[in-house]
Amino acid sequence: MKILENNKGASPVKVIPLGGLNEVGKNMTVLEYKNDIMIIDCGLSFPDDEMFGIDIVIPDFSYLIKNRDKVKGMILTHGHEDHIGAIPYLLKELNLPIYGTRLTLGLVENKLKEHGIKGKLNTIKAGQTVKIGEFKIETIRTTHSIADAICLAIDTPAGMIFHTGDFKIDYTPLDGEPIDFQKLAELGNKGVLLMLGDSTNAERKGYTASEKTVGVALENIFRGSEARILTATFSSNVHRVQRIIDTAVMFGRKVAISGRSMVNVANLAVELGYLKIPENVLVDINKTKNIPDKELVIITTGSQGEPMSALSRMASAEHKAIQIKKGDMVILSSSPVPGNEKTVSNVVNKLFEKGADVIYSDIADIHVSGHACAEELKLVHSLIKPKYFMPVHGEYRHLRQHALIAENLGMPTENIHILENGQVLHLTKDRVVKTKEEVPASPVLVDGLGVGDVGNIVLRDRKLLSESGLIIVVAAIEKSTGMICSGPDIISRGFVYVRENEDLMKSARTAVSARLDKCYADGLRDWAGLKNAVKDELKNFIYEKTKRSPVILPIFLEV
Ligand SMILES: [Zn+2]
Ligand SMILES: [Zn+2]
Repeated sequence: MKILENNKGASPVKVIPLGGLNEVGKNMTVLEYKNDIMIIDCGLSFPDDEMFGIDIVIPDFSYLIKNRDKVKGMILTHGHEDHIGAIPYLLKELNLPIYGTRLTLGLVENKLKEHGIKGKLNTIKAGQTVKIGEFKIETIRTTHSIADAICLAIDTPAGMIFHTGDFKIDYTPLDGEPIDFQKLAELGNKGVLLMLGDSTNAERKGYTASEKTVGVALENIFRGSEARILTATFSSNVHRVQRIIDTAVMFGRKVAISGRSMVNVANLAVELGYLKIPENVLVDINKTKNIPDKELVIITTGSQGEPMSALSRMASAEHKAIQIKKGDMVILSSSPVPGNEKTVSNVVNKLFEKGADVIYSDIADIHVSGHACAEELKLVHSLIKPKYFMPVHGEYRHLRQHALIAENLGMPTENIHILENGQVLHLTKDRVVKTKEEVPASPVLVDGLGVGDVGNIVLRDRKLLSESGLIIVVAAIEKSTGMICSGPDIISRGFVYVRENEDLMKSARTAVSARLDKCYADGLRDWAGLKNAVKDELKNFIYEKTKRSPVILPIFLEV
């Protein structure tokens, strides 16, 4: 172990981000001291356009698996996918105790059921203290776009670490319980060694508006409307869903809920008491036909334009119960997550084409972010007064902007550490340094049941296949003589439409035949050599004729 100059022999507390840096997604941070490891969050991210066929992306758990005896438990800040989505995959490797608030663990439990796993889930209330190994964690209520979110004050042998979790400062949240500012100020007075802070909106000036403003905007829309109203939002934003239901009730409308995750989360939230729906308000989505338009609100998934979501299917007339019709009012109560702009725009276009009125966040205040803007970040920095700071939860530009905010508030540049996933901070009494140590933290790709079996080489092939298609050359070769006795035949997929390109395929076949004959005449008999010759010949031939480079796969059968 590396010995630090000022603390000879003292073991450092290590902070190791396994995800969430230089990305918005798969948040996961590891704290380690001697023989104890605790984990904060375990999220997933969604694949980018280059990750063909990948379902989700999760953090690399190999450091934790290698140190499995040290891992004492995990605490969750809130129930968003980018904080809990990878838990089933971790639990398949390590069954550790998990601590979280009620709604958070309710969402985790639903997830574990889908995977057929049982977890050691321990429900806590904001304000409660939890001990995980040598770490004593005080949980503090905070406000975000999901109920029951917490931030963490972690007492470690090196000093206090404060983790903001995802947050915004909402003085008037829907459940009436704002952030515990007094607690934050107390922590600041006691002294915080290191703060880890949400950077998602660090580029935005000012303040994020309160969830209340959305309520006002919704009321204004409902008040003037006789139309059937459909609203799409994130299923996990229980407060938003509550606001939509309250507004529906206010204007004498019934509510139908659509989309698997919306139905699941709504059921859970009702069961746990986070969502209150008066009697006789809910109607079955399949039984809305006889309800007059002006007496109905449909709450649905699909605010991100996901092609398989209920809203997308309604917009393309593929939904069983609901079809968008002229005069419908559709409210997208969300803003596109970076990268989803195109799919959202597709759905908005389709809805307009079907004759619906569409209201989205560009044209009305029907969405507010769940993350703090610059002024809110300044307030938290000023209350917590950390000695060192590490921006988290954001792309590099967000981390950088958050670092600048800290600098402008007077923190010395050398006390601000911008890390990459897998890099390691060492904390000793009054001192935090970035080390050269690194642990594996590359993204792990999940495709169906395969976890991590798709890497760069497979992705490169998929990219090639998707761009230029595939040509297979099949030939049967007689074992005794090495002569071709059948073929070569050429089969292609995703390259050209064969019927309209018979001549091209015919001449390709001739070229391959001629090359094989030449190989035979030259005495070439080994299969690898023959395959390479066929590949080369065909590659050059196809490129010359079409300027394309499909994947070429020779298959020889011995007969
Ligand atoms: Zn969140
Ligand atoms: Zn998040």
